[in-house]
Amino acid sequence: MDRQTLINPYSFELFLSLRENMDFYLSDPFSQRAFRYFPPSEIKEEVERAACEISKKVSNRWRKLVEGMASWEKRPSVLHYDPYGNRIDEIIRPMEVEILEKEVFSEALFSKRTHPWVRLVKLFLIYQLGESCIACPLVCTEGLIALLENYADTSELKRILVHCRDGIDGDFGIGAQYLSEIQGGSDVPANRVTAINENGQWRIYGDKFFCSAAHADYAVVTARPQNSSSIATFVVPSWEGLEGKFKRKRNNFTINRLKWKMGTVELPTAEITFNGSIAYPVGPLEKGLANVVGIVLAHSRMTVGLSSAAFMIRGVREAKLYASFREAFGTKIENFPLVARTLEEIDHIAKRSLAGVLKLYSLFFDLPGGFQGGLKPSKKFFDLWRRRFLVRELVMLQKITAAYDAPDVLRKAISIFGGHGVMEDFSALPRLFRDSIVNELWEGPRNVLLTQIYRDLQRVKDFYSPINFCKDLLGNGLGEELGKECMELLEKDVLSSREECKLWDEFCEKLCWAFQEQALEEVYASK
Ligand SMILES: Cc1cc2nc3c(=O)[nH]c(=O)nc-3n(C[C@H](O)[C@H](O)[C@H](O)COP(=O)(O)OP(=O)(O)OC[C@H]3O[C@@H](n4cnc5c(N)ncnc54)[C@H](O)[C@@H]3O)c2cc1C
Repeated sequence: MDRQTLINPYSFELFLSLRENMDFYLSDPFSQRAFRYFPPSEIKEEVERAACEISKKVSNRWRKLVEGMASWEKRPSVLHYDPYGNRIDEIIRPMEVEILEKEVFSEALFSKRTHPWVRLVKLFLIYQLGESCIACPLVCTEGLIALLENYADTSELKRILVHCRDGIDGDFGIGAQYLSEIQGGSDVPANRVTAINENGQWRIYGDKFFCSAAHADYAVVTARPQNSSSIATFVVPSWEGLEGKFKRKRNNFTINRLKWKMGTVELPTAEITFNGSIAYPVGPLEKGLANVVGIVLAHSRMTVGLSSAAFMIRGVREAKLYASFREAFGTKIENFPLVARTLEEIDHIAKRSLAGVLKLYSLFFDLPGGFQGGLKPSKKFFDLWRRRFLVRELVMLQKITAAYDAPDVLRKAISIFGGHGVMEDFSALPRLFRDSIVNELWEGPRNVLLTQIYRDLQRVKDFYSPINFCKDLLGNGLGEELGKECMELLEKDVLSSREECKLWDEFCEKLCWAFQEQALEEVYASK
């Protein structure tokens, strides 16, 4: 045998060139159809145009920037001191992140000029890049803006709002949100970080233990005002005064370390000690918890639903492409019924999740004033209250369901690639998988939200019955059936029983899947 015949001619070239030239939006007929169906007719064309335009960037330049940053050696780090002995706690990130962030934020996604559906389709495509140190800062900024749009009543807060929403001299402010402390992230009412009013100026003292987007310009921080039993919400600038950013002078806090994480590794998540940081209260002090949960976390939870769907849509698309290229035993692997079935199953879940979250957004966009802190039943404004309540519960249902489905779907997509599936530099799938697991944990882990949904339905059941709730969600037939089941579970008080609480978990999953399936049917039935 000569040497030439010993050389293995196998090549991934065809797969790579197809993947390289794949436009995230144009190569995805289902997403196009869904984004044609849900937005109101007068905006459909603009949404389509915006999607095609941004998709070129996402599929090429921004994807390559993300591939450039997504390696272990390029993890963010913190430089504690400058060469002159000054404590600076500078977050060091690779140039690719800095460029990506600048370009994405320059889209002015949260400006009043950007229609919510245009923003949504852009975010959906951007989130297909994975967390990439861009998804978390985007949603934190969105939550900060929503909070300030309700409560910016001082010149400082108004300036922060303009900086984040519209930009100042082309520079867009970036937000973060620091609620979790070492003793607990779910139990925010147990926060120990303290706010003290010193001669009319509020200052924050204490430790926050999970501070993502630690490079941000402003953070929404929860803290207990001294001698108070309630938790208030503040905006804390990262820098001392307007010049602080350029002089690298922090607003009286230290970044003690960055966390070493399994997912979202490109994103700096820090442990921070506040030592008299200047803070601006947002909204009434006693309403801080209601506002942070009802406005800021509601946005983050809704984004988890959207980004989980985006991760799944991309993962499945790339798995399908690979299955149409790869051969085994003399045939394309997509021809094996077991492979075809797996692809069909994950394709369905990805589409169902996208349809469900877009339907949720369409209900949300119809709410006057967006999310609000607290939700007291109101007889006088019953219809509006009911719509708000539905959206509030759907946000949690979609968050837990999509965040649970995404790792399963991505794991199965990875398995289509065989051994190459777990290679970090072969495809984006391992990174999307790791990021999807974080989606399950932050912004309220599954059991916390299952408990919250249960308590909410229990609290309002005499005013708004679970049967009406399910009927409003799913229509008369299926809604009535699931509504009765819901009623029984609430009456039996299943969450207080270790044996029966599983029924609530299963019920919530069934309810959300039914909502997603109906949304999917609507998309399929659309022209
Ligand atoms: C990568 C990453 C980045 C993060 N970034 C931020 C950030 O920027 N800002 C921020 O504020 N936080 C952040 N977090 C923290 C995150 O929000 C918390 O981890 C989360 O809220 C859970 O809090 P915990 O970790 O303290 O878990 P715990 O609250 O200790 O919960 C542990 C377990 O107990 C369960 N549990 C708790 N209470 C209940 C209940 N009432 N009923 C049933 N089960 C319950 C939970 O479901 C969970 O499974 C981040 C987390 C991660 C992983």
